[in-house]
This record gives sequence, structure tokens and C-alpha cells, in this order.
Amino acid sequence: MSANGLVVVPGAGGFIGGALVAALRPSGRRIRAVDVKPFEEWYQRFDDVENLSLDLNLKENCESVAEGASDIYNLAANMGGMGFIEHNKALCMLSVLINTHLLQAARKSGVARFFYASSACVYNGDKQKTFLPPSLKEEDAYPALAEDGYGWEKLFSERMCRHFREDFGLYTRVARFHNVYGPWGTWDGGREKAPAAICRKVIEAKVAGRHEIAIWGSGNQTRSFMFIDDCIEGIGRIMDSEILEPINLGSSEAVTINQLVDLAEEIAGIKLKRNYDLTAPKGVNGRNSDNTLIQKYLHWEPSTPLRVGLEKTYRWIYDQYLARERGEVRETAAGR
Ligand code: NAD
Repeated sequence: MSANGLVVVPGAGGFIGGALVAALRPSGRRIRAVDVKPFEEWYQRFDDVENLSLDLNLKENCESVAEGASDIYNLAANMGGMGFIEHNKALCMLSVLINTHLLQAARKSGVARFFYASSACVYNGDKQKTFLPPSLKEEDAYPALAEDGYGWEKLFSERMCRHFREDFGLYTRVARFHNVYGPWGTWDGGREKAPAAICRKVIEAKVAGRHEIAIWGSGNQTRSFMFIDDCIEGIGRIMDSEILEPINLGSSEAVTINQLVDLAEEIAGIKLKRNYDLTAPKGVNGRNSDNTLIQKYLHWEPSTPLRVGLEKTYRWIYDQYLARERGEVRETAAGR
């Protein structure tokens, strides 16, 4: 990450924002980490950066956090896995306030560079009906038929970034993340995504000695999963690049949910009876990241094998789970 000056990370109490702050610290740049959550709920928090607990739905808060900033990486959104976004469409769409107010504040304070975290949920649902994973190219977002609620907000905010760049000359970069997973992220409580949820369910079964697992949908849905370290590297590369249009940032290693469960079972060293819940939220049937464009621009793409990243994630969730069972306070990286 080449620019100098103050870096602001909205959403720093969350999974990706926390990992980004951790990655930026060695650069020696001043960092302002912001999240609406109280500090004790942040996944990672560091005493050597400025930490603020503020609601960025409010314009005045966006203005105060953007003051003096050189770069803003907007990773704040009210979101979660399919279980959350299918049942909280209005809340997901209200994240439009965060990005809109941040863009306005960035313009007002003369911020040099602005990054926006979009999502594969912007892609046209009709192109994701087959279980054979269609590799989604950037152009497949149009004609628009995004994921209801969450996806439409992302698509709108992508365009807002584009228009702030075209009309006001603000340097904006947009990446469409495809399912990010790894340690220091949500693994229970209803907002967790498939890799963390499956690791937790396998751990629960192992610890309880009850060798069964509930799977949402038929298990034949295909997805790709990007390890957090690849996501952080990609964010930096895209921010530093000349890529003006929204670009995929995801792994192209597609697996079915059943294959994801196979991997988690292998890591845990157990086999489970699978109970499929066909009424549960399951999202689109198939989705994979087409990495032609990112390869063309950056000669790079996320490459951590799922087996490698999932093992690290499983071990971290296992420790969290046992700590919770023992009644210990959840581990955070506070003060590291
Ligand atoms: P996360 O939920 O762990 O982090 C988001 C953070 O934003 C949370 O800590 C939350 O408290 C904070 N936030 C929400 N509303 C806020 C407000 N009003 N003011 C200040 N902070 C607020 O999610 P994440 O996985 O770290 O996702 C980061 C970004 O990446 C989000 O924009 C998300 O939509 C996007 N994204 C993530 C994935 C993924 O697989 N994790 C996939 C696609 C896109």
C-alpha cells in the first residue's frame, strides 16, 4: 500500500476490517480504526492505532473520521451470511448510508483514495441457477438482478463510487469479494458464513460425540471461498492499481457445500451423518469467481488452497469454542 498519511478503516471491528488494520500496522502509517460496535466486541483491536466506536450511518460521524485522512478503506456494512441477509433486507440496504456519507465526507476533506468493498451478491441471479458453478465475469452484473436487499445496495454503492470518481475526481476503487473466510471472523450468532458455520457444526458434533450435521440446502450448491490473507493482499493491490471498474476478488477453486463438509470432517478426523434442511436459506445454486480480469491487470489472483485456509480457520474456531465452553471471555487481539 503505497500512499502515505492517515489511513481510515471503517468496519475495523469486523472480520476483514480487523485483518486489514493488522496488516497495515507494520507500514508505520497512522491508522484510524472505526466501528459501531463497542470495543469489547471487535475481533481485533490494537492499542497502537486510534480506535473509535462510532455509528457511520450518521453523516457528522463520517465527516469527523474522514478529517485529515489520506486513504479510506470502507469495510463497514450491516451484513452476514445467507441466514442474515435473507431476513434483514432493509437493514442491509441501510448500509447505503455508510458509503454515501463516507464518499461525501471523503470529497469534502480532500481524501486521496477511497476503497469500497462490494460483493459477488451483485451478480445477476439468473446466471447462477445451475449447480455447475458458472464463473462470473464482471460484466455478468448486468442486466441487473442482484441478490435482493444486500446485493442491490452493493450495486448501487458501486455506481455511487464510480460517479464520485467521474463527476468529482475522487480516486475510488471497488472490489467484489467472493466469500471470505478465516480466523478472527464471525463463527456463531447467526451472521456467520458457510465455512465458519460448517467448522463450528463439525466441532460441536465432535465435542458432544453426536455425529450428525445439519446442512442448509441439498449440499450441491457450489461456491468458492477466499482465505482472508488473499483478500487483504488483493485489497492493497486493487487500491494501488489503475483498475477503474469493479473487479472480482475471489478464489476460483469452486467446491460444493458437501465437499466443504468433507474437508472439515477430514480436518476434525470424524465422519458425520448429514441431515439436509431444504427449507433453510441457501442462496444461489452456483457461483464462482472468474479471475480473467484480475489476472490481466495484476498478474495475480487469490491462491491459498481451501484445505490450507480451512484448517487454520477450524483450529481458531475450535479454540474459541472451547474457551466459550469453559466460560472464558472471548479471545480478542486487543493490545497486541
Ligand atoms: P463484518 O460484519 O465482520 O464487518 C463489518 C463491520 O461493519 C462490523 O464490525 C460492523 O459492526 C460494522 N458496521 C456495521 N454498521 C456500521 C455502522 N453504522 N457504523 C460503523 N460500523 C458499522 O463483515 P466482513 O466480513 O468483515 O465484511 C466487510 C465488508 O466486506 C462488508 O462491506 C461486506 O459486505 C463485504 N463483503 C464481505 C464478504 C465476506 O465473505 N466476508 C463477501 C462480500 C463482501
